[in-house]
Amino acid sequence: MTTVRTRIAPSPTGDPHVGTAYIALFNYCFARQHGGQFILRIEDTDQVRSNRKSEDDILSALKWLHLDWDEGPDKGGPHGPYRQSERSAIYQTHVSKLLEEGNAFHCFCTAERLDEVRKQQMADKQQPGYDGHCLHLPADQLREKLAANIPHVIRMKVPREGKCVVHDMLREPVEIDWAQVDMQVLMKSDGLPTYHLANVVDDHLMQITHVIRGEEWINSAPKHLLLYQYFGWRAPVLCHMPLLRNADRSKLSKRKNPTSIGYYQKMGYLPEAVINYLGMMGWSMPDGTEMFSVQDMIDNFDIKRVSLGGPVFDTEKLDWLNGRYLRESISDVEFIQRFTEWAFDREKLHAIVPLIKPRVERFSDVVNLAGFFLSGVPAITAESFNHKQLSPEDSLRILQFTAWKLESIEAWHRDRIEQALAALAGLLDIRIRDFLFPVFIAIAGTAVSTSVIDSMAIVGLDMTRARLRHAMVVLGGVSGKQSKKLEKEYQQLFALSQEADDGQ
Ligand code: GLU
Repeated sequence: MTTVRTRIAPSPTGDPHVGTAYIALFNYCFARQHGGQFILRIEDTDQVRSNRKSEDDILSALKWLHLDWDEGPDKGGPHGPYRQSERSAIYQTHVSKLLEEGNAFHCFCTAERLDEVRKQQMADKQQPGYDGHCLHLPADQLREKLAANIPHVIRMKVPREGKCVVHDMLREPVEIDWAQVDMQVLMKSDGLPTYHLANVVDDHLMQITHVIRGEEWINSAPKHLLLYQYFGWRAPVLCHMPLLRNADRSKLSKRKNPTSIGYYQKMGYLPEAVINYLGMMGWSMPDGTEMFSVQDMIDNFDIKRVSLGGPVFDTEKLDWLNGRYLRESISDVEFIQRFTEWAFDREKLHAIVPLIKPRVERFSDVVNLAGFFLSGVPAITAESFNHKQLSPEDSLRILQFTAWKLESIEAWHRDRIEQALAALAGLLDIRIRDFLFPVFIAIAGTAVSTSVIDSMAIVGLDMTRARLRHAMVVLGGVSGKQSKKLEKEYQQLFALSQEADDGQ
């Protein structure tokens, strides 16, 4: 009998997402239930967006949740390397095979041409997709173009007739016309694979038997199945999990809900409560018990019991569950130990102490000066934002623009934060001191505190985002309409500064 092997394959392009932990949990339980293995693979083929800091954070977040993997980039294993950026030669070999056998082709179309085609298709009310322009390029032309080093990509051939049947563990088989499936780019002009090629090749070579992943990938299934067929491989069993949702049932997004696992760690949730809560997303224990451990989940696991209605990730329910864990499942001694570990995180203290030391006369001052680093969102009211120069609307605008601007910082470092906010204050023509006032209130709860720039650098983007969002709510919140207006203003601000730069 083949051993069950599942995997989580995150792309390291940002904060570790609760959605990644949720999918990892279901893969983990499925593998463990069958005495199989659970693999971690890093999908970093997008060289621009991927970074090592994000990879490290994802690994620590999954470790914090005790979702241990058997093979991975940090552990090695018989099917490594487990980081796609280190497997380029493997993808080259495989794409060459597809080309040789006539299952893939070189495409020299420029972005402009593809754009034109797409526009025309839209105008003709056709489904946008590659029109097959380079599909039958004569051999001599192909040789010439390659010899002249004309930039190109490699696309997979997709039949224009017939149907593909997708089987999924949670759904009835779905039939899809091949004509609806795009001739997907498999290798980009830089010689790196796209997700589709790398994913299929790796799942096969890593002997993955069951692919359990988010529903957003279900439309890619036909392309993947066709690739398995071209390679002559047996495809793994597919299972597309329902996506987590915000309370309003839209797809879970950081604008509406904290999505970073780091946020939950910093807020002082227990990993076992977070994992328990994620286990309740679309799944439940057969007897309806709400408080259960991963082991309970494994012992009672049945993937077929996942319900497809989009599970709502509701932080209030998580608060309730976490409270139960704190009260019911840990002794006072354990509480003290775990609280101390959480509060007196050495790394964080090393960052905080140099900021507060110059202001301290007694240890007892530390609590007032540094308390906000540990607290969740500060206790503030609309009055906290009273300021001679700034109306509540001004404060709201500053907070919203700050939140947007901070999302675009490449590396979360105090200097970058400072530059970004100074630039924003300059564009808004507000003195930096005044500009930072509402930010101080949002982050520290008071304007009399250690540098707010350094503080944000320490609490992290996820917690900064949560506090800015809370402050905006305290100030009355931003309606959909207001948000659109602000977004326009924000874009204009940068467009104008761009024009000024170009004019110089
Ligand atoms: N890298 C993809 C992601 O981050 C993996 C999708 C899959 O599991 O196939 O979602």
